[in-house]
Amino acid sequence: MANVLTAGLGYPRIGEQREWKKGLEQFWAGKQDEEAFRKEMRELRIRRLLRMKESGVALLPSGDFTLYDSMLDHIAAFDLVPERFRKFGASDSLAVYFAMARGKEGAPACEMTKWFDTNYHYLVPELASKPQPRLAFNPWRDAFLEAKEEAGLTTRPVLIGPYTFVRLAKGVAKGEFANVVRSYIAVYNAVLAELAQAGAEWAQLDEPSLVTDVPEEHLALLHEIYDGLKTANPGLKLHLQTYFGSVEHAESVFALPVDGIGLDFVRGGEENLKAVKTVGWSTGKKLGAGVVDGRGIWRVDPDRALTVLEALAALVPAGDLIVQPSCSLLHVPVTSKVETSGDPVVRESLAFADEKLQEIVSLAEAFEARLSGNGAAALPARLEENRTALEALRNHPGRQRAAQAATADASSARAAFAQRHVLQRERFKLPLLPTTTIGSLPQTAEVRKARLDWRRGKLSENDYRSLINGLIETWIRRQEELGIDVLVHGEFERTDMVEHFAHLLDGYYFTSNGWVQSYGSRCVKPPVIFGDVVDRGPMTVAETVYAQSLTDRPVKGMLTGPITMLAWSFYRDDLSRREIAEQIARALDAEVLRLEAAGIGMIQVDEPALREIAPLKKSEWPAYLDWAVEAFRTSVSGVRNETQIHTHMCYCDYHEIIDAVEAMDADVISLETSRSHGSLITALHDQPYGNGIGLGVYDIHSPVVPEVSTMLDVIRDSLAVVPADRLWVNPDCGLKTRGEPETIAALQRMTEAAALARQSL
Ligand code: GLN
Ligand code: ZN
Repeated sequence: MANVLTAGLGYPRIGEQREWKKGLEQFWAGKQDEEAFRKEMRELRIRRLLRMKESGVALLPSGDFTLYDSMLDHIAAFDLVPERFRKFGASDSLAVYFAMARGKEGAPACEMTKWFDTNYHYLVPELASKPQPRLAFNPWRDAFLEAKEEAGLTTRPVLIGPYTFVRLAKGVAKGEFANVVRSYIAVYNAVLAELAQAGAEWAQLDEPSLVTDVPEEHLALLHEIYDGLKTANPGLKLHLQTYFGSVEHAESVFALPVDGIGLDFVRGGEENLKAVKTVGWSTGKKLGAGVVDGRGIWRVDPDRALTVLEALAALVPAGDLIVQPSCSLLHVPVTSKVETSGDPVVRESLAFADEKLQEIVSLAEAFEARLSGNGAAALPARLEENRTALEALRNHPGRQRAAQAATADASSARAAFAQRHVLQRERFKLPLLPTTTIGSLPQTAEVRKARLDWRRGKLSENDYRSLINGLIETWIRRQEELGIDVLVHGEFERTDMVEHFAHLLDGYYFTSNGWVQSYGSRCVKPPVIFGDVVDRGPMTVAETVYAQSLTDRPVKGMLTGPITMLAWSFYRDDLSRREIAEQIARALDAEVLRLEAAGIGMIQVDEPALREIAPLKKSEWPAYLDWAVEAFRTSVSGVRNETQIHTHMCYCDYHEIIDAVEAMDADVISLETSRSHGSLITALHDQPYGNGIGLGVYDIHSPVVPEVSTMLDVIRDSLAVVPADRLWVNPDCGLKTRGEPETIAALQRMTEAAALARQSL
């Protein structure tokens, strides 16, 4: 094994067969008592440590395992439990922990939001009532001791650093940020002191907020915090870890009084390398070189990684370099070893968490050989394999297609909205405040099972299709009875809005066990875009046309937009995200034009992820939004003026992207509003939106059937900022997770509310 240091920063918690998820859900369902549950989790943790240990990586993390989410662990340990949960027990009880995560009897769960630009969600600390942080218990020390005793490992415990923790919290009053962060120094010191006492040499403090926009005035504060931590813990080495991009204000950050700093050399790698070059590196400080992509699923390209390491070795003494992943491996599946089906060239190019740890060790070995002047020596076998596999992937026929024949030019002018609006009004003759839904309708256990059976060949194509058609018919009738104006077919044939289309397009690979945690026990299995995404023929035409054949009312066609298709997949790294989105957009456009040709007059292209993958630095937004909007426009290009294009977005902080939404120029957009109603109304007041818009009138995430009056209020508020001939009435998002009776009741009230609102126009 190599002498160059190696490290891991975090590892999946879900287990190779998602044992973690299953254990949690059994416990929640009351099928397992607390003792058995704790025992099972402990065994899982130990197995996990032993797997990491097997890789041979020197510095391994502990404390990154959690029963739900790491941020939530901090909330509990720092005694920041919001008042409404205190009645359920002590800060360290599972009752309180899971009540915060999932809500319980009249105490709504803590808010959950995306972790930076990933699809992982964390629970948001609520600091509004100014709770004083105090160490209620120390899960990091427990995890450290467990690793030592049970796996013989001296680990490097991982905490979210105080700066990032407070940056991600809500309720910090304006002007109070610095004081709030200061109030955390003591509690972090308490954790660190106990870690040192337990025998830890290192602690890892994750500060990914340092790659976002960091105001100048935070720099002194950062120095103050880390001075505070270092002074109080002279015997413990502190490793400050950044990831997901290049560090803002490198000069100041590199000078922080810590013993090691980790940088991402995959995302923002060039900027980080340049910063090390221009700022220099202080002697004695370790540099964690994140050269193995912790967010992608491909084997590492050894030549690329070694080039970065060699460039660093010219700037930093080799003994101070640590070879490591770019971020925690939480964002990739556990092991590619179990992937035994599908295209062998793609399969052979995969590397998940276990493989990535092994790659790190091999890279360290190869790097060391080069340092000792043995540059010409062959690479370690694993890295030779990587070269071969990646070479085959590069030459994959799926990557060598001629660019798809360009569909209509995106700018090939549709008329301006005002003119389209007139034409569409004549065509559809809808009432004012037309009602519609977002696309999916309740999915019963029966339909889920039928889909699975069909995919496994246990249900014939005919039986499956007639079951789906039956559901479409039932729901077309129901929507008509409810008096909804624009109908949907219901998306019964879709497991997931991305996976469904991925199966129908070329360029995708599907893992059999490539699960990653999305939030809590929920795991997703993102499709893998490995080749050129190319249209293969009709994807939604049959269901949509069938639905339309049953009714005189318009049925909206329903597609997932290019940015969302990209965001919720793993993707190739030889093309830019822009180029991949462009390919997807062209393939979708072919379907849009087919739907139009088949007589479908309204087509919705959903982009719920548009905001989510926006760059972490605001200065990079304009460029991103430019190509994201362009991709959307490409996906609907060439349609007639009379065809009405809809789009839908959820959780998008509309006010941040108003200009982009305008540039998308959809005829109608429906927006999630339940979490941001007030700010949305203000934004629309300050900058009126010129096209059709529907502000979700009720929150579909709750099983509660909303009151007519509540929805009427939303409509009236909306009418203050959107004229009646452009306002739509719809729920917040798709209804697939809701039950049938509550959905029917809610939609009934929604159409009542719309009717009442029309009367008072
Ligand atoms: N059309 C999709 C649905 O209704 C949209 C889902 C989403 O916005 N996340 O389910
Ligand atoms: Zn939505």
